[in-house]
Amino acid sequence: MKPLEIEIFQCRSDNYGVLVHDPETGLTASIDAPEEQPVLDAAARRGWTLSHIFTTHHHTDHVEANLALKDRFDLQVIGPINEAVAIPGLDKTVADGDEFEFGARRVCVIETPGHTAGHVCYHFPDDKILFAADTLFALGCGRLFERPAADMWHSLQKLAALPDETAVYFGHEYTLSNARFALTIDPDNARLQERARDIDAARAANRFTIPTTIGLEKETNPFLRATDPAIRRHLLMESRTDEEVFAEIRKRKDNF
Ligand SMILES: [Zn+2]
Repeated sequence: MKPLEIEIFQCRSDNYGVLVHDPETGLTASIDAPEEQPVLDAAARRGWTLSHIFTTHHHTDHVEANLALKDRFDLQVIGPINEAVAIPGLDKTVADGDEFEFGARRVCVIETPGHTAGHVCYHFPDDKILFAADTLFALGCGRLFERPAADMWHSLQKLAALPDETAVYFGHEYTLSNARFALTIDPDNARLQERARDIDAARAANRFTIPTTIGLEKETNPFLRATDPAIRRHLLMESRTDEEVFAEIRKRKDNF
């Protein structure tokens, strides 16, 4: 099987646009549809024709171009059943544990409530690629709009259980600010310090920080590290539950 081809580009102010292309069948999926013109430009640049939109959640900055793109392409919009009413142009609903085909490959649906109640991530296990949108960012996680912290902690644990080498494509370029925050929670983590320096250099040169990997996030992302003894000590929360430690880290980030 030829590897998937991926095109990454900026949409709106800080959203990532992502196109996924299967060279064997010509199928091309847009992961969400944040803005029409950048998606059209990216497809034209690669000579790809959109066949799908994989919607992760209902926020406007992820679905705004669904209908406009549907007008231009004969495409299918796939999205989470728990947000079906809020997703324009939805053709096919998916739920946790569902699998569907994209050409010859399997796509697995992982429901990750937290940022929104029905947010889903799309996992391509054969390619070891995850599209995590606003659940897991480089050194961050999505803000809790529709579900409590404990739900998000359990959602993040599902993603952390994927193989370490899994490439993670996320929804927003927040990495610089996430790195500054992470250092306030996990100041003695040498791997994080090193990564923060890499991120400073990347952003100073206007380079994208996408993708990351599950392994790197487990080593450096404070939102995946509520069990870490040094973090718990630093927060004076050694005897608290993982969910409580995670909730405290999320609260501090909201006020950062
Ligand atoms: Zn969102």
